[in-house]
Amino acid sequence: MTAYRRFRDRRRFGPVQVGTYYDGRGREKHTAACTAPGCGFSADYTDRSAAELAAQTHRCKA
Ligand SMILES: [Zn+2]
Repeated sequence: MTAYRRFRDRRRFGPVQVGTYYDGRGREKHTAACTAPGCGFSADYTDRSAAELAAQTHRCKA
């Protein structure tokens, strides 16, 4: 699950927030996480555009 790390370049797409962080090995990772209560969607991507696309196309279950 997405513990909130030190995200930078945070951007919001509707209820979904996309942020970039470095993983433990210094590699860039991109997370898309829905902030809507009861949804719980969250996913990691190696690609920023993939994370943003996922955020834009996310259909909230909540
Ligand atoms: Zn959602």
